[in-house]
Amino acid sequence: MKFVLKNYGCQMNVNTAAKITQQLLAAGHTVAATDEEADVIIFNTCCVRNTAEQKILSHIALAKQIKRHKPNLKIAVIGCLSAKRKISGVDILLGTDNAMDVVEKLGVSLQTLPAEQSATAYIDITYGCENYCSYCIVPFVRGKLRIRPREEIIAEFNQVKNTAKDIYLLGQNVNAYPGFPGLLAELAQQDGDFTLHFLSAHPKDFEIKTIQVMAQYPKIAHDVHLPMQCGCDKILKLMNRKYTTADYLKKVELLRKYIPDIHITTDIICGFPGETEEDFNETVAMVKKIKFSAAYIFPYSNRTGTAADKMPNQVPFQTRKARATKLVEIMRKMS
Ligand code: SAM
Ligand code: SF4
Repeated sequence: MKFVLKNYGCQMNVNTAAKITQQLLAAGHTVAATDEEADVIIFNTCCVRNTAEQKILSHIALAKQIKRHKPNLKIAVIGCLSAKRKISGVDILLGTDNAMDVVEKLGVSLQTLPAEQSATAYIDITYGCENYCSYCIVPFVRGKLRIRPREEIIAEFNQVKNTAKDIYLLGQNVNAYPGFPGLLAELAQQDGDFTLHFLSAHPKDFEIKTIQVMAQYPKIAHDVHLPMQCGCDKILKLMNRKYTTADYLKKVELLRKYIPDIHITTDIICGFPGETEEDFNETVAMVKKIKFSAAYIFPYSNRTGTAADKMPNQVPFQTRKARATKLVEIMRKMS
């Protein structure tokens, strides 16, 4: 069987896509050079922003066109988007929790694989999220927070620690893992020539103990993704982020105190409902003050079912985009 796997969205999806690809290759299937050549096209989807959703839907429509003159082509849609909405005219539809089932649904039995040879390995430590940031659809499509059993994490870690160069611990908020600094310290003391990273850290739960562990163990990377989302207290409150700009600055200061060469990256949403020009300027001032190593900047995207979607004072789409473009330009000038 020749397959194409199209992946969209976050690191969690990269992880799932890599595992599905490994399984299919291990069972003797091959990657098709083009969609037309494929026997199966798998879409591993994301619906965090409307632009991603529309792009994926248009790609699925193209696959359906191929299927019209090649009826044996199987189309599988897995992940966030299929958890959110029905998608007609496809053969396999699976949400995020059972996305790996696509392998068996394609008639391929799951294999126990030898140690992954890839340079980068991703290990889930939590699934789902129940923070309910008011703009975010993740809790609705990925479900409540679930903690992965420690033995499973250690077992997966032991499989990759001697082959992978970079190992990422993944969770929507890794700090929600009970005793996260302890887990990090334990893994950082294992043998192997690896660098340990984690994604993402939620500023509200990011604790000094984690910073101290990062500073103590040489195998932990000096980088942290700490999504700020916005640099204005009024908007942070509306976003339900549960930290203030002062809290955020404190964590940045601590990181820089304990780890002077730390790389801090962030996510920022522009044009959240109620954001005035003055509010946006507060975000600009924070960005200039903190001097992030990189920032992923998004215009706010309405997601049906979230609290922010129903908030008053929605910002015109052009303004959201203009603010995002301005911030990207400010970041570019600072780099
Ligand atoms: N769990 C991580 C956290 O809390 O920082 C973030 C995960 S989210 C899938 C990745 C990023 O997408 C967020 O940090 C946010 O900046 C962005 N995002 C989520 N919902 C969005 C929306 N409705 N509009 C624009 N950007 C959004
Ligand atoms: Fe979404 Fe907030 Fe959960 Fe991150 S912490 S996944 S932004 S609800």
